[in-house]
Amino acid sequence: MSSIFTKIINGEIPCYKIAENADFFAFLDINPNAKGHTLVIPKKEVNKLFDLDEETYKGLMNFSRKVALAIEKAVPCRRVGMTVIGLEVPHVHVHLIPLHSMQDMSFQHKVNLNDDEFRSIAKNISSFLA
Ligand code: AMP
Repeated sequence: MSSIFTKIINGEIPCYKIAENADFFAFLDINPNAKGHTLVIPKKEVNKLFDLDEETYKGLMNFSRKVALAIEKAVPCRRVGMTVIGLEVPHVHVHLIPLHSMQDMSFQHKVNLNDDEFRSIAKNISSFLA
């Protein structure tokens, strides 16, 4: 069965998309640690980061870097943090999180955003990738 993220890539489940190319896809995390919390995934469905083939792994890091630089321009923050967990969704994803404090990396404190806010943040980050 396809992962929830493969369904997002295929447009079967909605998301707040930020960017896409032939191999990678970036969209906002639906339960963000901070405004602008973004997930970057390979289109190829693989469970664990270090099981990716080397080319896909490097491609994912390069694509994540581009998205992180756009987040830094679009969202006021001290820097963009990166982490990979994957305990909830078994499809590799890089978390890019605009950081204000260490707490933003804890996954304990969440921010509530409405549909308009998600749309506006996604559009703003995307504009720095154009
Ligand atoms: P983890 O697998 O522990 O790295 O966490 C999975 C992440 O995916 C969590 O931060 C969730 O909020 C996020 N997530 C789960 N479903 C969706 C979805 N449909 N759209 C956007 N983010 C999601």
